[in-house]
Amino acid sequence: TVRRLAPHATTIFTEVSRLATQFDAINLGQGFPDTDGPESMIEAAVRALRDGHNQYPPGSGIPELRHAIVADETARTGLVHDPDTETLVTVGATEAIAAAVVGLVEYDDEVVVIEPYYDSYVAAVAMAGATRRAARLIRSGGHIRLDVDSLRDAFSPRTRAVLVNTPHNPTGAVLPREDLEEIAALCREFDAIAISDEVYSHLTYDGVEHVSIATLPGMAERTLRISSAGKLLNCTGWKIGWLTGPAHLVEGARTARQYMSFTVASPLQPAVAHALRHEQEWIATLRKDMQDRRDELAGILTGVGFDLVVAQGTYFLTADPGPLGVTDAAAWCLELPEKVGVAAVPFAPFTDAFTDDWSHLVRFAFCKRPEVLAEAGRRLRALA
Ligand code: PMP
Ligand code: GLN
Repeated sequence: TVRRLAPHATTIFTEVSRLATQFDAINLGQGFPDTDGPESMIEAAVRALRDGHNQYPPGSGIPELRHAIVADETARTGLVHDPDTETLVTVGATEAIAAAVVGLVEYDDEVVVIEPYYDSYVAAVAMAGATRRAARLIRSGGHIRLDVDSLRDAFSPRTRAVLVNTPHNPTGAVLPREDLEEIAALCREFDAIAISDEVYSHLTYDGVEHVSIATLPGMAERTLRISSAGKLLNCTGWKIGWLTGPAHLVEGARTARQYMSFTVASPLQPAVAHALRHEQEWIATLRKDMQDRRDELAGILTGVGFDLVVAQGTYFLTADPGPLGVTDAAAWCLELPEKVGVAAVPFAPFTDAFTDDWSHLVRFAFCKRPEVLAEAGRRLRALA
């Protein structure tokens, strides 16, 4: 492995899922739902397989899917993109992130990454050979907010991009408009772009609204917005994502991704297009169901004795195991599958410069059937 990837050798998701399998634990670590997406989407995929959609599709994605993506995004954000020049279908959001960074960031550029981060951001910056600058979120009055001073310190004339993620993995926080305005102001001041990971934009709770940084003044022309069918439609294993933005930025990502995967599995594309067109009600119901799941898991974790950080988006709850006598959350997480039969993910691997702020926390995924959460609860009560 090259030196620049050595710190990213094995993802925490791989490690925790391996332990979950080894000890037959309930996997509340890696975030994936345990029920399928809409029936009509599965049927459309089967039809596409039978109807001969089995050779290379166009590199940017089939036109039908690009049109459906643009329509979905316009309904969510009001943004209007050209399906031909401003839309790129990718192998999950993961490839969209990597292609955006590799295709748009020079070796001598800097990229701002806010901690805690989704782990692929730092690996993407490392693959691009660029320099990472760290900013941070902080806990403030029961909420999670941007530390604006840390962000200002991280920006410089060499800043090419900032990676933005809301609703936020791992914390579950939904960044308020004011925080996004601070990021946008720095992007404009330093002529930087925003690579905005919004894969959980449809999963906000308690009436909290998702704001896309692309909709703020002056940002449409400097933002790539990233989403994923995996999260919208409970098909994380299909690995279909996309990015949208101004043509000059999409072009950079398109150039890079041609040599990563070239394109995305052909029979799955018409199926996702079908679901984006016809299953919006299913997506709206998913949000209500996920809010219920969050409430169930929050009740269970509070009952066991964890301190919770209230999350208003995503699949994830942030828990502090300190009240249970835990002093090393990362080590504790790695023992949990064997000792208790439940898996969770520690925060430490999602931090670097600001490890001290966050490494006492762990992340539990609640995107599971109620009976699975209840069984996890029975097992976790051994800790109480
Ligand atoms: N970004 C975030 C914030 C995520 O949580 C995930 C995975 N759940 C991804 C990107 C990757 O998405 P995909 O599986 O579509 O590659
Ligand atoms: N994005 C999912 C999570 O945060 C899964 C990530 C992965 O397996 N790479 O849990």
